[in-house]
Parts: sequence; C-alpha cells; structure tokens
Amino acid sequence: MVILDASNIVKIYGELDHESSTTALNEVSLSIHKGEFIAIMGPSGSGKSTLLNVLSGIDKPTSGEVSIAGEKISEITGDTLALFRRKQLGFVFQDFNLLDSLTVKENIILPMVLERKTANEMDARIEFLSSLFGIESILYKYPYNLSGGQQQRTAVSRALVNKPSILLADEPTGNLDSKSSDVIMNCFKNIVDELATTVLLVTHDVFAASYCQKVIFLKDGSIHSSITKKGSRKEF
Ligand code: ADP
Ligand code: ADP
Repeated sequence: MVILDASNIVKIYGELDHESSTTALNEVSLSIHKGEFIAIMGPSGSGKSTLLNVLSGIDKPTSGEVSIAGEKISEITGDTLALFRRKQLGFVFQDFNLLDSLTVKENIILPMVLERKTANEMDARIEFLSSLFGIESILYKYPYNLSGGQQQRTAVSRALVNKPSILLADEPTGNLDSKSSDVIMNCFKNIVDELATTVLLVTHDVFAASYCQKVIFLKDGSIHSSITKKGSRKEF
C-alpha cells in the first residue's frame, strides 16, 4: 500500500524566472509504502529540508502533488491541514524540541491532552510506548536531567503518541554520540517492525542511514540515485 506519493515536485524560492531565484527541488517523484524505513541523504543545499517540508505540508510546492494516505496534502491549508498533520504525521528533530517545564510523561502525552483523550487511553499509551523504548524509569524526570539519547527516546514517544501513519525525522542523530544513535535507530526499527509505522528520515549520518531499508540520494534538487536492501520490506 502506497502511503505517500509525491509526483513531479518542483520548489522554487524567490520570483519565478528571476535570476535570484533558487530551484531547490526539480521534478522529484517518489512513492513510499506503508511500513517502509527510508533515509534521504545528500550534501548541504541539495534540497533535503525542502523535500521534508513539502512532504509534510509545511511548504507548498511550486508545482507537483503530494498525497498522504489518499489526501492531497499539497492542496489543503489552514485548519484542515493542521488537523491532518496532527492525526497522520509525527515529527522528530535534531534538538529534541521537548518542553523543559514538563516531565517526560507530560511531554509525551501533551498531544493527547490537546486531543482531549481520556486518562485511561493516555495511561495505556504511556505504558506501551515507555516499555517499547525502555524509558519507564525516567517518566517523572525533567528533560534537562536526561542524556541526549533519553531525550530523543522521549521525543520519539511523543511523536508516536497519536499513532501517526508516518514518522518524519530531521537529522535525529545529529546531536547524539554513536551509542545513543544506535539506540535511537533501533527504536525506529522497532516502530517499523512492530507498529508498521512508516519512517522517513533526513540524515548526513551514514551510520544512521545503514539501518534503513532504502536510501535516496538527492543532488542539486533531484533524486540522483537510490539503494534498496534486498528482501528488506514486508507488505502491510
Ligand atoms: P539541504 O537541506 O539539503 O541542506 P535545503 O532544502 O535547505 O537543502 O536547500 C536547498 C536549496 O534551496 C539551497 O540552495 C538553499 O539555499 C535554498 N533555500 C532553502 N530554503 C530557502 C528559502 N527559504 N529561501 C530561499 N532559498 C532557500
Ligand atoms: P488499541 O486498539 O487499544 O489501540 P492496539 O493493539 O492497536 O490496541 O495497540 C496496543 C497498544 O499499542 C495500545 O496501548 C496502543 O495505544 C499502542 N499502539 C498501537 N499502535 C501504536 C502506534 N502506531 N503508535 C503508538 N502506540 C501504538
């Protein structure tokens, strides 16, 4: 099942046909299946962030279409887009983006609180995620007392709390040492294997990309090449 489909994405910053304009993405097309684990790599300036922003609806493409779970995300705006993003997408960032005034547990359930979920639902979800990611012992600690790896596991739990169909991660190991990077990449692998959640990450880190089933290389705003590990994808 195709969960994300992008066709002929062009993104031009600045005035069209003006000499100061930049073509950040040039006719990029890709299809991502449910349960795939994909890394996007490429040199600085190759269009990785722009692609992630267009795929997640933060940025509109100049032309081309993006569909996620059958919804044309490149064409919806405002509250409809915000609601769609909240329900279908989870985000993980390089610098964790946790709220320092909230405990780990409060950070994780915040999206559920905003959705007015019941206490029972929240407890069940916390129990499930904290055991999946081995963070039961830090639920009542504050982010500033945690290691980078613990903070990132908290951020991954928060990103999953509304059961998104796709998890998007921007340089998730960028602030982690190699041991914590290994833990986080194994968390993503668990998410893919056990929850059939699709994971798409942008990374400079070859070690992180090596966990993925497929690596797409961008160069000058186009897909330059891609590598797929044999027999790596299950059909969902
Ligand atoms: P990467 O994430 O691979 O480093 P980006 O997507 O950030 O690449 O950038 C792709 C190209 O688009 C670069 O030439 C960059 O300078 C340009 N660019 C990115 N964002 C903007 C913007 N908001 N305004 C103008 N140009 C931009
Ligand atoms: P339920 O229908 O009660 O959600 P499931 O069998 O789907 O039961 O899930 C079992 C547990 O796993 C539940 O606590 C649920 O919250 C959690 N869970 C399932 N899928 C996801 C997901 N994609 N992201 C986060 N938590 C999940």
